[in-house]
Amino acid sequence: MVSISQGDGVRIDVPGAPTVVVDAADPADGLPVYTHAHGDHLYDHAPEAAICSDLTRDLAGVRRDGVPDPLDHPAVSLHPSGHVPGSRAVLVAGEERVLHTGDCALRDRLFLEGFEPPPADVLVIESTYGTPEYSFPEPRETVREMLAWLSETRDRPVILFGYALGRAQQLQAIVERSDRDRLFVSDAIRELNAPIERALDRSFGARSIDDLDRIGPGDALVLPSQVRTLPFVDDLIDETDALTAGVSGWAHDSSFRFATGDDATFVLSDHCDFEDLLGVVEQVDPEDVYTIHGSTEALATELTARGYRAQALKANQHTLGEY
Ligand SMILES: [Zn+2]
Repeated sequence: MVSISQGDGVRIDVPGAPTVVVDAADPADGLPVYTHAHGDHLYDHAPEAAICSDLTRDLAGVRRDGVPDPLDHPAVSLHPSGHVPGSRAVLVAGEERVLHTGDCALRDRLFLEGFEPPPADVLVIESTYGTPEYSFPEPRETVREMLAWLSETRDRPVILFGYALGRAQQLQAIVERSDRDRLFVSDAIRELNAPIERALDRSFGARSIDDLDRIGPGDALVLPSQVRTLPFVDDLIDETDALTAGVSGWAHDSSFRFATGDDATFVLSDHCDFEDLLGVVEQVDPEDVYTIHGSTEALATELTARGYRAQALKANQHTLGEY
């Protein structure tokens, strides 16, 4: 019988396949698999070997000491999940098939293609935006809005904030398309750019913030959202009269703008919205669904109301046998 449990990572046991442990900080046994290189999905100490995409391995090498050796197994396959560069969903196929989405996004965005989920008997699905109020605009609409804003505000410098891995590269691609003159990024973003640019065979054309004497009209600076509240950012805004923009799926909430204090906010997500999550479940067409991350209970309840056998995956609990 298939068994799914959450402790350090998600442990997947399928008869006829080896035990797989997905996104564990310190995997003890089983085949370690990493879906992508966001910090909350990566190892703390590198396991000897792990299954992940080549790009995730390269990005992990930027973010962590040590890189696991490549590993594969015929029962485990990786499927591009459309979340960030290098991200993969994991399919474990033995007597039954279990699909773990990792973080995923269905819609094409800039240089990223959306997730095309394969069919499976059991689905483990992320539920970051797992409640019906999350309905995101088409990414190309947001990109159009952002290009218009970058053009209208061209007499001022702008600072764009987003996650260093994934969002920051999208922001650079948008600035590249705009009529802004110069693009600068922090070193943390530049280090992550390098393997992504190699994998995509393109350059974002960004310069280091260290080469920056002073940003002025026509310039754009992309910074990690984590530095938004640091004093140097406030000083930079005061000194240069820069406008700021926060770009996130959470910008869907009106509280986001008040919380960040940004001049503009744009809704652009690297996750599925609620309808897209339902779309993934429909395409996978599973017997059983487990929800992880974010609105786990809410999504499980919604799926149950739609006739699926669904439950939230809780830490240190559970197998199918408990039904
Ligand atoms: Zn992620």
